[in-house]
Amino acid sequence: MLPYGRQNVTEDDLAAVTAALRSDWLTTGPRVELFENDLTRIAGAPCVSVSNGTAALHTAYAAAGIGRGDEVITTPMTFYATAGTASQLGATVVFADVEEDTANLDPYAVEAAVTSRTKAIAAVDYAGHPAEYDELRKIAGSADAVLLADAAHAIGSSYRGKPVGSLADLTTFSFFPTKNLTTGEGGAVAALSSELLQRARTFRSVGVVRQDLRRPDEGPWFHEVHEFGLNYRLPDVLCALGSSQLRRLGGFKARRQHLSRRYDELLAGVPGLRLPTTRDYVDPMRHLYPVRVLDGRRREVFERLRTAGIGVQVNYIPAYWHPVYEDLGYQRGMCPNAEAFYAEEISLPLFYDLTDSDQDHVIEALRTILEN
Ligand SMILES: *Cc1c(COP(=O)(O)O)cnc(C)c1O
Repeated sequence: MLPYGRQNVTEDDLAAVTAALRSDWLTTGPRVELFENDLTRIAGAPCVSVSNGTAALHTAYAAAGIGRGDEVITTPMTFYATAGTASQLGATVVFADVEEDTANLDPYAVEAAVTSRTKAIAAVDYAGHPAEYDELRKIAGSADAVLLADAAHAIGSSYRGKPVGSLADLTTFSFFPTKNLTTGEGGAVAALSSELLQRARTFRSVGVVRQDLRRPDEGPWFHEVHEFGLNYRLPDVLCALGSSQLRRLGGFKARRQHLSRRYDELLAGVPGLRLPTTRDYVDPMRHLYPVRVLDGRRREVFERLRTAGIGVQVNYIPAYWHPVYEDLGYQRGMCPNAEAFYAEEISLPLFYDLTDSDQDHVIEALRTILEN
């Protein structure tokens, strides 16, 4: 089966990991800081590494002080964790609908959902296409809310010339194998303010602090926990892999762009198919190539592609459809654009090592199904 996404691991990556394994540190060692510095250069804001993208979201919300009584506005067109980690902290998640074309959070829907309890607005750069940050910033500013970007898809993308990572108060990344780069499991939080960055760092390190202690004179071993944290550290070994992967980010982006353009060109005009749009002020590093299958044929096309050995996916089931939200009273129909998008969406294979001829095979299979 041709996968829809897949990691690219080279001999250089193996050498970087082996060197880490032979060193004195397996977990928090010098490669963590090196990786965080490498990430900072890409993201345009200081970064803290964490153990995965879900942990990054949990850490970002915790750093923003999200808790019981707070409302977090987010998109349903995402992996459940964007919402679930806020719920885990006791917040009430408010789903705002997405734009009809990009499937990114619609600023008008966000504005309509703001209340006096809104404490965070969490956008997702769906498929790697940055959300509408200028508008979202304004709304977050006037609501006195934190703006969070779940950029699990979008490391390497930019918006109006600015890199993803520098667009929101807090940005989260995932380095799962299907994403734009990988550390196996892994993630990071970028923060524009040093206070938010420090709070994120403390949360992912079990909440332990060694400065500003309540009892500073206990002794050199002494440390304190002032707020509950978790162990979300990313090991040295995986940070070594991350730094090695980041060196190829430009090449990863070029390949993803090449393949996206080929899909754009070779699928143009295929009946019953709608292709993704790109705003002219963004430069996306496409994580997904989401097409829309019209005329109620999504399931049929999905199953026939799978039968043909093409590992397509659906991204995403609207987050509030999950029974955990249904049981809290969230109802279907709440975000019609997101549901219409979901009903038609299929993600085609897109990854660095996808060859042009594998891609031709995908295009041919899709064409044949839709033209018959
Ligand atoms: C992958 C992903 C996550 C979660 O990342 P993990 O590293 O798998 O925990 C969160 N949000 C979005 C949009 C994702 O695609």
